[in-house]
Amino acid sequence: MNSIGIKRCSKAYNSLAVSPVQVLQDTLTAIKDLRHLNAFSYDITSDEEEALELAAQSEKRYKQGNPLSPLDGVPISFKDNFLVKNMPSTAGSKILRDFVPPIDSTMAQRCREAGAIIVGKTNMDEFGMGSFTLYSEKVPVNPINEDLVVGGSSGGAAVATATNQGMAAFGTDTGGSVTFPANCCSVYGFKPSYGRLSRHGVILYSSSNDSPGILAQNIDDISSIFQVVDGEDIKDSNSLSFTEPELRTSLKGVRVGIAEEFNIEELPQERIDEQRKVIDILQDHGAEIVEVSIPLLKQILPIYYTIIPAEAASNLSRYDGLKYGLQHSTVSSKDSKVDYQEYIQRIRTEGFGINVKRRIALGNFVLSTQDVDFNEMYIKAQKVRRLFCEQYNDIFEGIESSKGLQKGVDILLSPNAVGDIPKVSSIRSGEIDAIIGEYSQDYYTVPSNVCGAPALCLPMADVDHLSQSEKKPAAMYKLWGKYGMDRSLLQIGKLIDKIVKNS
Ligand code: GLN
Repeated sequence: MNSIGIKRCSKAYNSLAVSPVQVLQDTLTAIKDLRHLNAFSYDITSDEEEALELAAQSEKRYKQGNPLSPLDGVPISFKDNFLVKNMPSTAGSKILRDFVPPIDSTMAQRCREAGAIIVGKTNMDEFGMGSFTLYSEKVPVNPINEDLVVGGSSGGAAVATATNQGMAAFGTDTGGSVTFPANCCSVYGFKPSYGRLSRHGVILYSSSNDSPGILAQNIDDISSIFQVVDGEDIKDSNSLSFTEPELRTSLKGVRVGIAEEFNIEELPQERIDEQRKVIDILQDHGAEIVEVSIPLLKQILPIYYTIIPAEAASNLSRYDGLKYGLQHSTVSSKDSKVDYQEYIQRIRTEGFGINVKRRIALGNFVLSTQDVDFNEMYIKAQKVRRLFCEQYNDIFEGIESSKGLQKGVDILLSPNAVGDIPKVSSIRSGEIDAIIGEYSQDYYTVPSNVCGAPALCLPMADVDHLSQSEKKPAAMYKLWGKYGMDRSLLQIGKLIDKIVKNS
């Protein structure tokens, strides 16, 4: 089954050529047929009645010419760290096993109010920590080539999107967890500006970097969803509404920045050639290529990997086995005299996986006031973060320099991933170091989180995700936007996407 996409689906619903019930049934069939790809940690196929009833109601609204939104009757999925009412929401962790929330996250609530139908929760690296979704109880399988990783931490979301198990998927992005899996599975991934999409009901990882994000098979679909969920939410004090200037209709005069720090020695020639190709196409269509520099980009991995474990350690300290499910299976009545410290230790030892424990340990070192060196490291990382944000914003705002006023750029263009998509077998055999490999993969993705700016990852060509003949993922690139200019980024992305794919 090929996805017709949300925009075309909505047209077909409106003209009554296709019905939401039919589309939902096709999606449920895809979920059942593709179970071996492990996209979902939970799906609704064991209890389809309620969803089919929602689809029937949606169908009725279309017949009356009264749909709720362009998402009415559209099947979508959520990563397992979004609270979705009455569906298990575990963030991929044993410590939250059996947790079924009584409320919806704001993203799920807004989608439901717009008529979308939630078909399940997707597999992920535990608490969002990871780049390959190998820290997931069930490891999702790359539908293009089963030997390649699916990316992470929203790996299940990327697989679901690529294989039409829902028309789009919500992921979260703390340091590339939407854009990198999109990259590995050749779909579109969008990480909005920090605060633009509410984090209410999203299980925390690193609060100053976390953002909901959207994976889909084209930019129009991302925009349709973004329009529905965008905007301030009183339940998330960091959320904001933005107004944006009029959107561009052509690439003429669009200023595309290329930072000299994008050119790193680890970049394979193939990636450089792909970039060159996109640059040439953009120039041919009237865009202006501008060389820029963001010197602190070189420090981005130490900044990120100092701040996020600290935030993770404090966010995850709430899992002490008193409020959530794991205690029932761990402490039996004969253990009733277990002391509190020992109890927490047992719960956390059993409940957290290796990568989460590693980040918590690191975070506690970094935050420890007893260890002056580590504590200084944290404060230094925060200071350098601020300077990095200034450098980033200056590129977009424009700066006065000795050469006069340098006009700001509209977007930046770079590769999305450092090397080739790693093989699962190379990571498992130790040929690629799972930890260093994971961290170094993030060079192009984490900067957008560190400065809260929007990012879009795009394929250069269409691939047939389920065809096993070529087994080759598409070349990908990343567009970096100005903070708060999310719709502008999507619009410019759409213009670029069209010409790149047609060249
Ligand atoms: N690789 C990043 C990390 O492990 C990705 C995090 C994310 O975006 N959730 O922190």
